[in-house]
Amino acid sequence: MKDFTLAKDADGVAVITWDVPGRSMNVMSRDGFAELDALVAGALADPEVKGIVITSGKPDFAGGMDLNTIAQMKSEGGESPAASVFAGLMDVHGILRRIERAGMDPKTLKGGKPVVAALPGTALGIGFELPLACHRIIAADNPKAKIGLPEIMVGIFPGAGGTTRLVRKLGAMMAAPFLLEGKLSAPKAALAAGLIDEVVAPEDLLKRAKEWVLAAKPDDIVKPWDRKGFKLPGGAPYTPQGFEIFVGASAMVSGRTMGAFPAAQALLAAAYEGSLVPFDTALKVEARHFTSVLLNPSSTAMIRSLFISKEALEKGANRPKVEDQKVAKLGVIGAGMMGAGIAHVAAKAGMQVVLLDASAEAAERGKAGIAAGIDKDISRGKGSAAARDELLARIAAGADYAALAGCDLVVEAVFEDPKIKADVTARIEAVVGPDCIIATNTSTLPISGLAKASTRPDAYIGIHFFSPVEKMALVEIIKGKATGPRAVAKALDFVRQLRKTPIVVNDARFFYANRCIIPYINEGIRMVAEGVSPALVENAAKLLGMPVGPLQLVDETSIDLGVKIAKATRAAMGDAYPDGAVDAVLFRMAELGRMGRKAKAGFYAYDEAGKRQGLWDGLGAEWPVKAAQPDVEEVKNRLVLVQVLEAVRAQDEGVLTDIREGDVGAILGWGFAPWSGGPFGWLDITGAAAAVTLCDRLEAAHGPRFKATQSLRDMAASGGRFYDGIVPAAA
Ligand code: NAD
Repeated sequence: MKDFTLAKDADGVAVITWDVPGRSMNVMSRDGFAELDALVAGALADPEVKGIVITSGKPDFAGGMDLNTIAQMKSEGGESPAASVFAGLMDVHGILRRIERAGMDPKTLKGGKPVVAALPGTALGIGFELPLACHRIIAADNPKAKIGLPEIMVGIFPGAGGTTRLVRKLGAMMAAPFLLEGKLSAPKAALAAGLIDEVVAPEDLLKRAKEWVLAAKPDDIVKPWDRKGFKLPGGAPYTPQGFEIFVGASAMVSGRTMGAFPAAQALLAAAYEGSLVPFDTALKVEARHFTSVLLNPSSTAMIRSLFISKEALEKGANRPKVEDQKVAKLGVIGAGMMGAGIAHVAAKAGMQVVLLDASAEAAERGKAGIAAGIDKDISRGKGSAAARDELLARIAAGADYAALAGCDLVVEAVFEDPKIKADVTARIEAVVGPDCIIATNTSTLPISGLAKASTRPDAYIGIHFFSPVEKMALVEIIKGKATGPRAVAKALDFVRQLRKTPIVVNDARFFYANRCIIPYINEGIRMVAEGVSPALVENAAKLLGMPVGPLQLVDETSIDLGVKIAKATRAAMGDAYPDGAVDAVLFRMAELGRMGRKAKAGFYAYDEAGKRQGLWDGLGAEWPVKAAQPDVEEVKNRLVLVQVLEAVRAQDEGVLTDIREGDVGAILGWGFAPWSGGPFGWLDITGAAAAVTLCDRLEAAHGPRFKATQSLRDMAASGGRFYDGIVPAAA
């Protein structure tokens, strides 16, 4: 079976249908490209064919490129992968360019045949770059469809002409959100933005496409950039307007990425340089920059974690093999910040939700908070009143545990107090059926301890959401010592229903994510105590590719929470507690009443409305900045290594059982430098031997928290890696 088939109709329209066998979504492979090229060539040469419609046999047009194709191009190059990748990209440009020229004489621009892309649904990546090479793009009015170029989100950029064509179609300024942010649009929004040409009722899609083909005039099929005297919309770089656009875009990209994401800079360079030269040369420029991005290990790492591993985890890579555990009726105990958030996302996913709190009023308050959140979205043009009412009708708020009867899963998010949690567990178990799974959203209490309050600890599990629940994509599922496979499957199926990304870890202090975030925050605070400039700490974190610096992060999560965690950890560890220097700063901040953002005072200063200003100017009086400051690389190394080493220890101790979970969890959970693909990806890019050398140096200078693990030393000695390209090396 083939990916593309051609059918000629009586009017002389050749309809090429893309329908990759055995897949729910079309993806482009090299074979696919070759088939498409051959079919287009045949149709252009066939005197009976007046024009071509390219469409899909599936509900969507296409999801993008088959990422194996890129890997294949690289490996075929042997000693010179760059040459092979570049040649592969130029082949793709050739195929799309033949579609765009459609047989016309390049001098007279006459003699071509019209080619229309008819998109029934989603069209992403190459699934939109191919339409961009056609003469008209018509989309079905399918509000669920997404159209755009999301490549930048996984560390690459549109490299099949998408960058060059979109900049010429819309101008650099208007193309920027689609290229630099990977913004996706539903068909109507795509039409308004000028990405596509027409939106029609789904049932009229093919009819309208054929109509256009048959009515098209020779002039309709010549791209603006193929005409004499083409001018870039909004101005080319060396015009007064263009100058401002490109300088502004360059500043914006540098400001946002801090130089840590190679794809954004390469994209900008391709757009800038490409707009100074003729179209076909611009494609070559695009291919050169794209090759350099594909050969940068960051792109492999990002594609691996943010695309391949993430999808594998979402599809249940580590799900025990038990029958479907989907949740129809969910109970949530505690209608505070987290409980209300969980109830909200579950109702949004279509589940019936019982939301309980200590009193009916408290539960209703939680539900009212959900309504207020939705109203705010509606006022910003997101969602409708009807959808809100439907969602809220699925949430029954109250205080009566009898309402939990029939729940397949109950998640408790009450106060972080083992006694209260134990009491709540007993009350849940008195009502629910024997198949119901009970989960806790605790962020600090060991699951195995809490499970002791349950009469069936095999059905007890941790489902740890991150705040704000509505926004955060990661959910950490924690197995207690006694947790059984059905509870794990239930948690995974529940998270899948919510369309979030799960990782499954074993029980240990702070599980995985918090275990790694805390050392990051602490290292930042420790440097303040040492007299390192707080601005240096925060900026080094940004240069590392962290979304927020450690001092800003502790302001967001609050100083009092930090104090609470420090006290509990000290109590648990006794004399071995290593973070006295951190506590000296943290406790002093608490004493000063600077509890963080919620108090409008923390390491940062805030205005009356709670908007962050700059670093608090009183920091220097409390912790004087030393005259001799460390090199920024040293600060970056400290901030990254404390996290990476903690992830490795979590792996060594069996808290993590799959490095993919460690990497995906790190990026989605706390924003660990996405360019690196996660802590294990970072180690592979750095190299285990170089990482060990760094550890040794930092250990000597700053103490045993930087001690390299034996596992890393072994890896350094054997020259091993965590991943073999895209997959875990052990697999
Ligand atoms: P919160 O104080 O906002 O909400 C707790 C809710 O539980 C309150 O509405 C309270 O009235 C209710 N409650 C207390 N005792 C109860 C009882 N006996 N029966 C029924 N309801 C009761 O707290 P939160 O921030 O939503 O945290 C809840 C849980 O989630 C805690 O275990 C916390 O560790 C965990 N958690 C919090 C975060 C976070 O960022 N806040 C993140 C992950 C996990």
